[in-house]
Amino acid sequence: MAPQTEVVDYGAFVADDFTKWSAGWTWTWNSQKVDPRDSSTTPKSRGLSGDCKPQGEQTPQLSPREAYIASISAAVPPAGLSPPPILPVKPLFTTEYFEVRPSPKGGLGAFATREIPCGTVIHREQALFTGTSMEVFYLYEQLSPDQRREYLGLHEFKGVGGHKILSIFKTNRFEFKGCEGAIFLKSSRFNHACHPHSTCTYTVNRKEKTIKITALFDIKEGQEITISYGPYPANLPWAYGFYCDCPSCPPPAVAEEEAKMLRGPG
Ligand SMILES: [Zn+2]
Repeated sequence: MAPQTEVVDYGAFVADDFTKWSAGWTWTWNSQKVDPRDSSTTPKSRGLSGDCKPQGEQTPQLSPREAYIASISAAVPPAGLSPPPILPVKPLFTTEYFEVRPSPKGGLGAFATREIPCGTVIHREQALFTGTSMEVFYLYEQLSPDQRREYLGLHEFKGVGGHKILSIFKTNRFEFKGCEGAIFLKSSRFNHACHPHSTCTYTVNRKEKTIKITALFDIKEGQEITISYGPYPANLPWAYGFYCDCPSCPPPAVAEEEAKMLRGPG
C-alpha cells in the first residue's frame, strides 16, 4: 500500500454517515422514545445504558437477567451501514514492508504495508551508536545535528532517567549482555507484544552493530508488527511506562495490583 500522503477532507462524510446511522435508531429509556440528536437528552444525562432498538420495534419484556445483560452490552449498528472510516494519517516513514504511524496501543507503531510470509527478513539496520548509560552523553555529542534531531524524536519514558538524552537511551536501547545497548532509529518504533503474540523476532549482531528483524508468522497487510521487549511483562511498567495489552497479560488494573505486590510496602 502506498503511503497515504493525500489529504482528504472526510468531515462531511463522517457527519453524513452518523446522520444515516442515527436516523434508523432511537434511544429508549423506560420505554420512552428519545431523540438522539437532541443534546439536552443525551444518553448519559438521561442515565441510559447505551442499548438501542431499530425504530418501530417494540421493546420486548425482558427477564431481570436479560435486562442486566442488555444493560452491559454495547449497541450494534444496523446491518448494511459501515462504521465511520479511519482517517488517513501520513506515516512518519515507510520501508519495503511497513510504515510507522500512530498505533491503537498508544504513540507510534509499525504496520505491514503488504502481506508478509513467515520467515521474511523485514528489516535490517545499522546502529546509530552502541554503548552504556554512562557513555550516552559522550556518544550523543559525536552525532551530527540531523542524527541528534532524529535521536531526540524517539519515544521517551521519563520514569527511567532524569535527563532526556539518558531516558531516551534507556527507553529505546536494544540490550546486549552486560550493560551495553544499541540504538536503532527505525527498529525502536516497533511496539511490544509478549511471546507468542509478537509477530516478529530480532537478532542483534554486537560486532557489526546491526539488527535483523524476522517475521515469526504470516503477517497481514495493515496488521501491527510487534516484537517482544523481554520475557517478563511485569518489568514493562517501570522500564517502559506501559502495561502489556496482549491476550495473555492481565488488564492494567490487575497488573498494577500485581506490580504493587512485587514492589512490597512503601
Ligand atoms: Zn503481554
